[in-house]
Amino acid sequence: MLKVLKFGGTSVGTLDRIQNVAEIIKKIKNDGHDVIAVVSAMSGETNKLIEYAHTFAKKPTSHELDMLLSSGERVTSALLSIALNEQGYIATSMSGREAGIVTDNSHTKARIEHIDTKNMTYAIKEGKVVIVAGFQGVTKDGRISTLGRGGSDLTAVAIAGAIKADVCEIYTDVDGIYTTDPRIEPKAKKLDMISYDEMLELASLGAKVLQNRSVEMAKKLNVNLVSRSSFTPEVEGTLITKEENIMEKPLVSGIALDRNQIRVGMYKVRDIPGIAATIFTALASADINVDMIVQTVAVDGRTDLDFTIPTDDLETCEGVMKIFEEDVENIDYNEDVCKVSVVGVGMKSHTGVAAKAFSAMAKENINIRIISTSEIKISMIISQKYAELAVRSLHDAYNLDK
Ligand code: ADP
Ligand code: ASP
Ligand code: MG
Repeated sequence: MLKVLKFGGTSVGTLDRIQNVAEIIKKIKNDGHDVIAVVSAMSGETNKLIEYAHTFAKKPTSHELDMLLSSGERVTSALLSIALNEQGYIATSMSGREAGIVTDNSHTKARIEHIDTKNMTYAIKEGKVVIVAGFQGVTKDGRISTLGRGGSDLTAVAIAGAIKADVCEIYTDVDGIYTTDPRIEPKAKKLDMISYDEMLELASLGAKVLQNRSVEMAKKLNVNLVSRSSFTPEVEGTLITKEENIMEKPLVSGIALDRNQIRVGMYKVRDIPGIAATIFTALASADINVDMIVQTVAVDGRTDLDFTIPTDDLETCEGVMKIFEEDVENIDYNEDVCKVSVVGVGMKSHTGVAAKAFSAMAKENINIRIISTSEIKISMIISQKYAELAVRSLHDAYNLDK
């Protein structure tokens, strides 16, 4: 079998942890499999580099950031390769460029356009273990790009899809996908399987165990994706697969929490046709991912508009809002919010799922500020201080520990 393995920041967080990863790879290699391993930077490294950059500039240019941040994963790929070579295995490390990962020009959040797998294929044919620096590629103009936070997951899935690997195993510090973050709710249960769509919702709604774009790519390319732990590699993880492969469809599969949300309140906006279109087009052009939107009933030709954006986009959003100073009486930004979400494909065919979520919040006296729903999810914006309580109450309300 050809296996693509990915080791996240905590899995390569120290030199001992890198040796542990070498042991995992050696075992898989000894079992007769071919291995491409994608590695992240050592945990905390990417944040440290970002901080360094910000000591010199509030807004460093995105190309310099990519040059800087991509270095973290190159360090671990080379170290892991050196370790394996010393222990009698032939390994070769590759940067994103050497691995043939070509992206568009959106530095710091580049999209993979295609992967030229010839270097990797050649090395595998020679019996080598290929170690790829995750999270990065090269633009068509030959400049280094990075794929957005958590992007090593995407590197692994994209390579697995392009090279038609038999499986893509994402090794992290938990042994699979749980009904919610086990660090928040210790009673969370590990799932044997979860559908791509549910995993995509959970990931997009804050469960950082897998990067959402990697799940989207896995679904598109039909990659056999497994989430498991490098701390307990003998434990089987969770398979992320097609909905039809899952016999028993739970009503609710999981609860997600996203603390990186800001609620933008636009008060007394001029209520004229096209105003919402103008505002949200301007936000979209600035690449701001607006999530939940509510508009209240207009009074005296004025209406209130509330929406949420990711914390990182605050400054850009403030810039965009300047255009609308004439159209609105007041704008405020509330950072003290978070989003809790209930996800499950079973919701499609059952009633009363949302009511249960609202009752769980009511029981704890938690005020819901904004609600949004889709076929398979219910999201609520609440005050940050209730984040963990809300997750646990929802987990309880749907009996997810049973
Ligand atoms: P890595 O550094 O390996 O990429 P991450 O920190 O990005 O790892 O993701 C792993 C973390 O995701 C876990 O430590 C866990 O706290 C968190 N997490 C959030 N939601 C879930 C969930 N539903 N199941 C498992 N882990 C989750
Ligand atoms: N090192 C990058 C980050 O911290 C990419 C990754 O770990 O997936 O976001
Ligand atoms: Mg991650």
